[in-house]
Amino acid sequence: MEKDLESVMFDEETIAAKVAELGQQIAKDYEGKDVVVVGILNGAAVFFTDLIRQIKLPINIDFIAASSYGDAAVSSGKVNIKKDLNKDIAGRHVLLVEDIIDSGITMNNLMALLRERKPASVKLCALLSKPSRRQVDVKIDYCGFEVPDEFLVGYGLDYAEKYRNLPVVGVLKREIYS
Ligand code: 5GP
Ligand code: MG
Ligand code: MG
Repeated sequence: MEKDLESVMFDEETIAAKVAELGQQIAKDYEGKDVVVVGILNGAAVFFTDLIRQIKLPINIDFIAASSYGDAAVSSGKVNIKKDLNKDIAGRHVLLVEDIIDSGITMNNLMALLRERKPASVKLCALLSKPSRRQVDVKIDYCGFEVPDEFLVGYGLDYAEKYRNLPVVGVLKREIYS
């Protein structure tokens, strides 16, 4: 699989160190609170399982799968829930865990939808952010790395549902997808 990469952007050690740092910060901020850490399927699955083990608190976990219609001009509220949370979040602190924030449209819509359920708070942790691609403002409370506008795969990120299990994050060779 790694032979399909143009270059490795973040190796396993670099990712593990960042995940540990994020986990420590999150544990500090949520100490004593009723928190549900929500993994956004499928992209965040790998990051999520590593991250929750670095949050040394008695947290709850849950999962959600959503897709957006992708039109920035009419984006508000247009989010399609493909798999909803199993538990009620009213009155609880929700921490969303996402792989990458690109345009920000999906996350913006998802956060708006979840806020309607009256949680105590909604915060966002994203492993990667592509600020140059942003179309709507999204506050990333815990951000792993800011990345340039390149097509990345690995550590949960896919190309046609492949490469999610690659343990590094890298730039996919152009010949693979063109
Ligand atoms: P957006 O922020 O544009 O609404 O959507 C973000 C989603 O687009 C991510 O969850 C991810 O699935 C996908 N995405 C954005 N940038 C990349 C990338 O560089 N590589 C891969 N594999 N997916 C990406
Ligand atoms: Mg995603
Ligand atoms: Mg994808």
